[in-house]
Amino acid sequence: MIKSLNVKTASRSEFVDITSEIQQLVDESGIKEGICYVYVPHTTAGVTINEGADPSVVDDILKTLNKLIPHNAGYSHIEENSDSHIKTAMVGTSQSIIIDKGKLQLGTWQSIFFCEFDGPRSRKVIVKFIPDN
Ligand code: ZN
Repeated sequence: MIKSLNVKTASRSEFVDITSEIQQLVDESGIKEGICYVYVPHTTAGVTINEGADPSVVDDILKTLNKLIPHNAGYSHIEENSDSHIKTAMVGTSQSIIIDKGKLQLGTWQSIFFCEFDGPRSRKVIVKFIPDN
């Protein structure tokens, strides 16, 4: 069972909360127990799970990544987006979330964020469901 999600980003670097969209795919799949595997098939975008209640948390994460990994720092890669590749390597391109009784088992403060590091672009997220039986 594979589904996909299109994410349209609006800036060069940005975190987009995709929790409700992923839960909607879980609902549509009809899966009650299993694993939801969220995969981003890009080299300059990733996915992470972190606090969604206070938006300043992901702002701080983004600001810190931008501070640690500047846009231009004498990189070799000719496309001039090495910072985007490095941020993606750090954040990662997949997450696995447990599904129980048809619901993603996220903590109270957790949300799933698509991490854009070289936008704005049209992006894709692939979601695979692995049922218990
Ligand atoms: Zn590149």
